[in-house]
Amino acid sequence: MASEELCVVCGDKASGYHYNALTCEGCKGFFRRSITKNAVYRCKNGGHCEMDMYMRRKCQECRLKKCKAVGMLAECKYSSTESKHHLFHGNVSQRRQPNFHDDHR
Ligand SMILES: [Zn+2]
Ligand SMILES: [Zn+2]
Repeated sequence: MASEELCVVCGDKASGYHYNALTCEGCKGFFRRSITKNAVYRCKNGGHCEMDMYMRRKCQECRLKKCKAVGMLAECKYSSTESKHHLFHGNVSQRRQPNFHDDHR
């Protein structure tokens, strides 16, 4: 049988793919907040917490670390500069292609 879809970070019920990984809503939100704020957390356990639904509340550093370990991508982190280079941000669509009919007359 196919397994139930579980968050790869904490094992809670996953809601879908977020930032390139199957995660729950909680981890999605946590990851987004962490990368947008550039948050720095401190683990009390030397960074060796086993992440689960209980620990995710206790240790944010290990949660974020797990998020990255499972392949979550923080592309939004650089949205102010880098992403504008490879995303189409309006400029392209402003200019309409001329109709052939206009040239034709
Ligand atoms: Zn989760
Ligand atoms: Zn920890």
